[in-house]
Amino acid sequence: TTESSPALRETRSVCCYCGTGCGVIIEHEGDRIVGVRGDRTHPANFGRLCTKGSTLHLTTGAAGRARHPEMRDARGAARRRVGWDLALDTAAGRFADVIRRHGPDAVAFYVSGQLLTEDYYVFNKLARALVGTNNIDSNSRLCMSSAVAGYKATLGADSVPCSYEDLAAADHLLIAGSNTAWAHPIVFRRIEDAKKANPALTITVVDPRRTETAEFADLHLQIAPGSDLLLYNAMLHVLLWEDLVDRDFIRDHTGGFDALRSQLAECSPGNVAAACGVPAERIAEAARRFGQSRAALSLWCQGLNQSHHGTANSAALIHLHLATGQIGRPGAGPFSLTGQPNAMGGREVGAMANLLPGHRELANPAHRAELAAAWGVPSLPERPGLTAVELFEALGDGRVKAVWIACTNPAHSLPDQARVHEALRAAEFVVVQEAYADTETAAFADLLLPAASWGEKTGTVTNSERRVSRLVAAVPAPGEARPDWAIAADFARRLQRRLAGEGDAAGGGFDWADEAAVFAEHVALSAGRDCDMSGLSHALLDACGPQQWPFPAGATGGTARLFADGVFPTGDGRARFAPVAFPVRHALLPEAVDARRPLVLLTGRLRDQWHGMSRTGKVPLLWGHTPRAEVALNPVDLLRRGLQVGKLVRLAGRRGEVVLPLASDDSVAPGQAWLPMHWGAGTLAQAGANALTVPLSDPVSKQPALKQAAVSIAPYVPG
Ligand code: SF4
Repeated sequence: TTESSPALRETRSVCCYCGTGCGVIIEHEGDRIVGVRGDRTHPANFGRLCTKGSTLHLTTGAAGRARHPEMRDARGAARRRVGWDLALDTAAGRFADVIRRHGPDAVAFYVSGQLLTEDYYVFNKLARALVGTNNIDSNSRLCMSSAVAGYKATLGADSVPCSYEDLAAADHLLIAGSNTAWAHPIVFRRIEDAKKANPALTITVVDPRRTETAEFADLHLQIAPGSDLLLYNAMLHVLLWEDLVDRDFIRDHTGGFDALRSQLAECSPGNVAAACGVPAERIAEAARRFGQSRAALSLWCQGLNQSHHGTANSAALIHLHLATGQIGRPGAGPFSLTGQPNAMGGREVGAMANLLPGHRELANPAHRAELAAAWGVPSLPERPGLTAVELFEALGDGRVKAVWIACTNPAHSLPDQARVHEALRAAEFVVVQEAYADTETAAFADLLLPAASWGEKTGTVTNSERRVSRLVAAVPAPGEARPDWAIAADFARRLQRRLAGEGDAAGGGFDWADEAAVFAEHVALSAGRDCDMSGLSHALLDACGPQQWPFPAGATGGTARLFADGVFPTGDGRARFAPVAFPVRHALLPEAVDARRPLVLLTGRLRDQWHGMSRTGKVPLLWGHTPRAEVALNPVDLLRRGLQVGKLVRLAGRRGEVVLPLASDDSVAPGQAWLPMHWGAGTLAQAGANALTVPLSDPVSKQPALKQAAVSIAPYVPG
């Protein structure tokens, strides 16, 4: 209760949008959230919020919330309201039936980086220990899995080495495939602060578009889409050629350099300049700025990750740091920006098909045995689980019969939207656990389970800099909505009884008293791992504020910077230069443009919208910046094609089409079209960017190449 208003209360929380992880203070009266402001004590934002965060209170109580469980009795029938008991008993019966008839891999769970760590943990334990399947994956697969694979290939673990405070200590920033100004606005405010405080700070931005972030840079490399890997290899070539590498660091702390060096021979700037669409001198200049800096920090996001060579992209960027010893020091290191608020938490609990809790690997028998012992089951399944795109392919061809989708909207966000919709129609049973009843995916639900949302949930999230923050429910969820972890645990207990009744093995405890108990079980499993957070608890986070891992039991503080000692978790302590095949022969784009589809579509994000807009789309204030869906082309292309601004155009690809108004934008290079990914339904074609994107994934990270596709454009002719 505040002094000014006895009815007004305040509760600490975290913004539920991007991975910056800004702390917020929720102001609430009774059951209503009435305001929000930045938390001045939170080390991510020190009180600042961007347009999305500062309007969070306007999203609560908004239309479209799921308030009661709803079930349909037959396909094609309307859903009817049911009670929780009937809903979860039905779900348990249907899942048990599928498992009995087809085995545990005939069911799957698709979860989300929007979930809290506690939610994630329960779903993961439910899939692996109770159902006995590794078919659990997260929409984080679409977001960060290439960065994760890049870290593992080079540093030996999924350990982001840096902190936001490094932004102020750097004297060079390389921002790659990230429109930080729009997608991580408070990180960008910190970059602006760093530039003001240190005018000698230089910034290079690599992006096919001249974004607001690129406008702020000293050097913008407007590369050809998909040519990132060529560029970073060419930069490394320059560093070697001009002796800007740290030979002592390479000798003492890395391995694999000689093998990579032989591959780099062909990657001179002159050799790759045409494919990159950037003059060789600009590539050399970027390399020199990086190599000559005292402390270079790289920030990257979806432009590198959402690629069919995303792992190599990330590794090639990290190589620049290893070759120059720019890691483990203040202001120096590779720093991937996490897209979602808790993608990192999902990695910690291992709620992805190839992972297990505590950054363990499914493929490692010792790791599986450790978890089986901890969860009290004879063994964990060894069969690889299906990753996001694979999971929905399997749903479409009948290998997976029943799917449980929590807090995410795959009918909007996965590539090749039409095929995902077909898969959801083909499934025997679709459960959608959601805060909003009006998402594209909810339309396919046989069973819709109402989930609590931001401001209504208690738990933790981990942001881009490994910082674990607490969220506390400020108000009750509307209607009968429940916290995600509680729904999953309740379902697990019912399924456990069903499976036990049918004689199948069923293990694992699912009767936690509260979120703090779930968190305690989770952090205990991290002891001794690179992400050790066994010293954390909800009580400690309440008392001491957000903390960065590693934070082992007995620690008095978190760890801001990793690898300061030059020792990496690779077995021999050396970081690795990962072999990356000479990429000039590699297809840069996930699909080729040709005479019929001559434009490269680029997808991206708007400043004031988030994902499928189920939340931000309901705030009129946030429509002021970009009021409608548009596809943008360079004015040269408009002229050449005789197209008019504002008129409807039909954008057609190999898998679908979208009808949208046309905009002119010279930040888009000729030969390209730019389309925000936020719209799904809501366009004339009732489809969005992912009607056009390619279901092709990186072979290591399995992250789909959502950034580009080949399209044609023509005036829209109705009928
Ligand atoms: Fe929220 Fe990200 Fe904006 Fe911070 S920067 S307020 S976390 S959307």
